[in-house]
Amino acid sequence: MKTFSINTLGCKVNQYESQQVRELLERLGLHKVEPLKKPDLAVINTCCVTHTASAKSRQYIRKAQKLSPDAVIVVCGCLPTVHIGELNEPGGNVHLISYRNNLAAALSQIVSGKATASDSQSLQSCSDTIIRTKNGAKIKCKNELTNQPKLPQLTSFTGKTRAFLKIQDGCDGYCSYCIVPQTRPFVRSNPAEAVLQEAQALVEAGHREIVVTGVFLGAYGQETVRRKNWANQRNDKLADLLDKMAEIPNLARIRLSSLEPADVTSRLLDTFCRHRNIMPHLHLSLQSGSDAVLKKMCRQYKAGEFREKIESIKSQLDRPAITTDIIVGFPGETDADFEQTVNLAKDAGFAKMHIFSFSPRKGTAAADMQDTVDNRVIKRRSQILHNLNIKLGLKYRQQFVGETTEILVENNNGQLCGRSERYFMVYLEKAGKKLGKNELVRVKLIKNSENGAIGQLLTNREFEL
Ligand code: SF4
Repeated sequence: MKTFSINTLGCKVNQYESQQVRELLERLGLHKVEPLKKPDLAVINTCCVTHTASAKSRQYIRKAQKLSPDAVIVVCGCLPTVHIGELNEPGGNVHLISYRNNLAAALSQIVSGKATASDSQSLQSCSDTIIRTKNGAKIKCKNELTNQPKLPQLTSFTGKTRAFLKIQDGCDGYCSYCIVPQTRPFVRSNPAEAVLQEAQALVEAGHREIVVTGVFLGAYGQETVRRKNWANQRNDKLADLLDKMAEIPNLARIRLSSLEPADVTSRLLDTFCRHRNIMPHLHLSLQSGSDAVLKKMCRQYKAGEFREKIESIKSQLDRPAITTDIIVGFPGETDADFEQTVNLAKDAGFAKMHIFSFSPRKGTAAADMQDTVDNRVIKRRSQILHNLNIKLGLKYRQQFVGETTEILVENNNGQLCGRSERYFMVYLEKAGKKLGKNELVRVKLIKNSENGAIGQLLTNREFEL
């Protein structure tokens, strides 16, 4: 076995784990190729957060079987970890990795020729482990092997300007629409020393920006994501870690992935203020601006707390970018509920909203809710939010036109561009000099547009002015 390919679906955590798989396979002597090049081993890192993601994952498996009929195919990620009948009989030489902790061992055995597809099923026999259920009761569950070799830490994040660094895994929050507590039930965090070592390695590999990632990032250092079970009901461990990470030489930018409002403690905001390399950008998932809907979603905050937190963030950071996720058409969402979402979005002045139309996810509580919203209503409400998103994005960026900002250069279909500190995209009008991907340069923002800002590269002399 000489070559491998990886297809990754889903979130930043999956993307991070695919890089771990790449590191492991390269250490085992394999060479990464594109899926079209008929690899000896094809890894499909799946997602099942929606039915569409599951369908896409299955499509990748079929495609790999068709493209490389002689390849060994390893299916890992979220889809094989839940038993909702969406991955029956994949057939052929396919290894399904149902227990994440078995992945490193399974890959090593497959590469050394010691495992066949049917062996991967026996690799799944496992010791009993405790997990927590929705109501907090502890149950015994056949789950992960504890003494299995782990996937390695990253020494680089290939193919990306920004490197994702997973520091936390798992969620036992059971939001009623979400399948993640079934795919990643174990809440755990990487020790600070290991995280710092990995961040240092990524910087040495040339990454200027690290996006700190987790399934429930605000629960870093905790054994559950349920705040009511935390001592003091607050958590400063993420801030402690960031304080140290920000001191890593040559780490120009640190960004955080998603947080909930209560995760943004005064201690965390102090950390943001203290370190210039922590970007003034927070992604806070709102999901809905209505308390009634938030309650049905089993979220851990109310709309009022969300509003207060935004005020406190704005009072301490300079024009921070606050981005969010919103679900439209959750069962029972009335026009009045939706209006509250719209009003909250306007008041918050989100720099960007990711808008999702609700679709029931088999295996979750919300899938069985009766008071569904008509598809035409969902479509209309989504359109209203999409229009608002464009308006709010333009308004947010407009305040920076005429100012200078720093961007991390990337190449978007031949167009030079880069993310600013506040995450909006800046397209370079004409660079005038050759710029390398992953270079940090200062630009003057001269115009605004629906897709981002337009900037002009400043010369070194202009920097000094
Ligand atoms: S907090 Fe809620 S939405 Fe986020 S992963 Fe956990 S269950 Fe899913």
